[in-house]
Amino acid sequence: MKKASLYGTSALVFLALTGCAQQTKSDANAQLNDQSVMALNWFQQSGEYQALAYQAFTTATYAFDKAQSLTGKQKAVVVDLDETMIDNSAYSAWQVKANKPFDDKSWSRWTHAEQAKAIPGAVSFAQYVDSHGGTMFYVSNRAQNDYAATVANLQRLGFPNVTEKTLRLNTATSNKQARFDEIKNEGYNIVLYIGDNLNDFGAATYHKGNAERRNFVASNHNLFGTQFIVLPNPYYGDWESGLAPNYNQLTPEQKLKVRDDALKAWNGK
Ligand SMILES: [Mg+2]
Repeated sequence: MKKASLYGTSALVFLALTGCAQQTKSDANAQLNDQSVMALNWFQQSGEYQALAYQAFTTATYAFDKAQSLTGKQKAVVVDLDETMIDNSAYSAWQVKANKPFDDKSWSRWTHAEQAKAIPGAVSFAQYVDSHGGTMFYVSNRAQNDYAATVANLQRLGFPNVTEKTLRLNTATSNKQARFDEIKNEGYNIVLYIGDNLNDFGAATYHKGNAERRNFVASNHNLFGTQFIVLPNPYYGDWESGLAPNYNQLTPEQKLKVRDDALKAWNGK
């Protein structure tokens, strides 16, 4: 009886401790999600975000018009999709509300719902390129099983020329360089790349830390606004995993610490 009761007490203590650990973990996950709230508020609500998106596509239009067409080659524009041409912020806002981390299963449910909206200025820009001698290529790291839903979502929003030739989703690697090279080898002159992630402009920053990513930008600053057009994305991206080596493998608690340690703060005196 005594023994049984001892076991019973131990089991209760064990349950309480694991419960505590789970609670802490879910608190850390909740904190990670909560840190996205202001970024999502800005993205979804501010006129400033909207203005930056229009500004990006106006700049892109000037750059497209100015770009010289190489003899015998058709001008092409390569664009990323998520948070470049289409807005998935409702999925991320759902993560915050439901306190869920990103995962492939819920992301796939979102993409199959085909509810992504157009980024301001994106459809008009794509239509401009399409009607002024250029070919739009939509190069995204969405999965192949999202293909049909992505086509339907893009077409419904009014994006032109979304075909098996022009929509290139993730195949063997999320490094987009091979897909860019394929487009060039098919005889296109890529005059402009548009994205919300430095990896949308080539392999140089792929899986690199933020110091190297910033160096890439500084060394190539003349290309931004002429060959590379960037859309703002403050709530996710490879800049986040660039905060620390193996960031994506860290626990929620470790991620919170990395984020906090990365702040450059005034000492207050
Ligand atoms: Mg993107």
